[in-house]
Amino acid sequence: MNEQNLGNANTNISSNVFDPLTGLKKYEYFVSDLKRIISENKNTPDFKLAIVYSDIRYFKYLNDTFGYNRGNELLKMYSEFISKPNPRFLGNCHVYSDNFISATNVSGLTEERFYAEIDKRNKNFEEIIKPFFFDRPIFLNTGVYILRDALNEDIETAISNANYARKESKKFNTDQCVQFSDQMMKDIIFRMELSASLPMAIETKEIKVFFQPKVDSVTNKVIGAEALARWIKKDGSMIYPDQFIPLLESNGMIVELDYYVYREVFKYIRERLDAGLEVVPISMNISRVHFKNDELGPYIEELLAQYKIPTEYIEFELTESIYIDRIHRILPFVNKMRGLGIKISMDDFGSGYSSLNLLNNLPIDVLKLDKVFLSNDDLSRNQKIILSCVISMAKQLNIKVLCEGVENKHQSEFLTTAGCDMFQGFYFSRPICEEDFNQYLKDNKIYDGK
Ligand code: C2E
Ligand code: CA
Ligand code: CA
Repeated sequence: MNEQNLGNANTNISSNVFDPLTGLKKYEYFVSDLKRIISENKNTPDFKLAIVYSDIRYFKYLNDTFGYNRGNELLKMYSEFISKPNPRFLGNCHVYSDNFISATNVSGLTEERFYAEIDKRNKNFEEIIKPFFFDRPIFLNTGVYILRDALNEDIETAISNANYARKESKKFNTDQCVQFSDQMMKDIIFRMELSASLPMAIETKEIKVFFQPKVDSVTNKVIGAEALARWIKKDGSMIYPDQFIPLLESNGMIVELDYYVYREVFKYIRERLDAGLEVVPISMNISRVHFKNDELGPYIEELLAQYKIPTEYIEFELTESIYIDRIHRILPFVNKMRGLGIKISMDDFGSGYSSLNLLNNLPIDVLKLDKVFLSNDDLSRNQKIILSCVISMAKQLNIKVLCEGVENKHQSEFLTTAGCDMFQGFYFSRPICEEDFNQYLKDNKIYDGK
């Protein structure tokens, strides 16, 4: 086969084709080069192509700590390193930031041998670069995809497979390269199918709203519930939100899902009111994606008008991280809702980088302490001190406190003594379907409206 040396670091050429910082080919030129190479090799027996996608772990941190110039130097050194002459080398490109792709001809090599070579190459680079960062170890994340049939596979899909494996390597926290596996392919297909079937799942009501009761800490009577989405497939299998919410957040479809959940909850409350049955306030989750624009407030007002629901029955939950990220959009929304009489909870408090100072500045009615506070069955002395202080501080600020993830009697007894107002957790009830929740309401009345 021909030896094509494409995309060697080319720092002297300033053109559209090369990235000015690293001198490597830009993505689109790299891809078209690869397509050409593949077609030139259509008669080469055993032609086998591997895509290696890498980034530098904690690059943002390195940039912030050592400065952008040092960050750029690192990118240049990596570019030069991967461009060293190598008979198997077919091309490199700098995609963006610290993302790089290399293409290698692996004909005649076993896959294991190739992966070992990549690991060795990465280790070499990590050794070379270490002294430039005061001996702080620098690691690469690398994903590899070997095309089984280069002539018939789509090259951009191959690149995206290698990229997927790179992202997976971050989960494993390893600097060994991760190969794109059959399981990863199954995950991608599963995610694509989920995305494609969501609109239908809403229409056909495969997505159901479950309710998890909230109880008073002293009487243990039900005083509200949180609406949680469940996807129940036709075969009866259940998909939990952790599997589909992140996906829907990444493609924006979460907005549709949330609107659906809100409609179902409003409808449920209306039906109960019309039937003269007991109703408790229901809280609904709000994804951060809503705050890309200002449509949420008007949508909720429309629902209130359409279903004529007294606002005391409606609550919304916003995670503490949304408050931090999107404060300028959140504040007007929260003020508007509270002005209407809708309560706002700060969800998952304590799960991220909470600042207690947040409580000082933000208008909220309820603080929902995250499950992390209760990570042991028996609370440690330190956990108890922290919980008591957070609860007492919230109370002094006139904020009600709900503890999530209460799973046993020890926890609930301690929290009651510490002054926590409400509980939500498996000890009282798991999230349950509407019918079971209605029964739970019957058995565990009574909401006193406060
Ligand atoms: P979240 O808002 O923090 O909801 C509480 C989660 O904790 C629920 O998980 C619930 O099942 C679980 N949980 C409740 N009590 C206990 C307990 O005692 N122990 C343990 N270990 N877990 C407990 P779920 O239903 O799987 O929901 C996960 C997350 O998905 C929710 O966390 C929420 O962030 C999101 N989510 C669920 N439904 C919706 C929705 O309709 N819209 C949006 N935007 N997000 C949703
Ligand atoms: Ca929640
Ligand atoms: Ca929560």
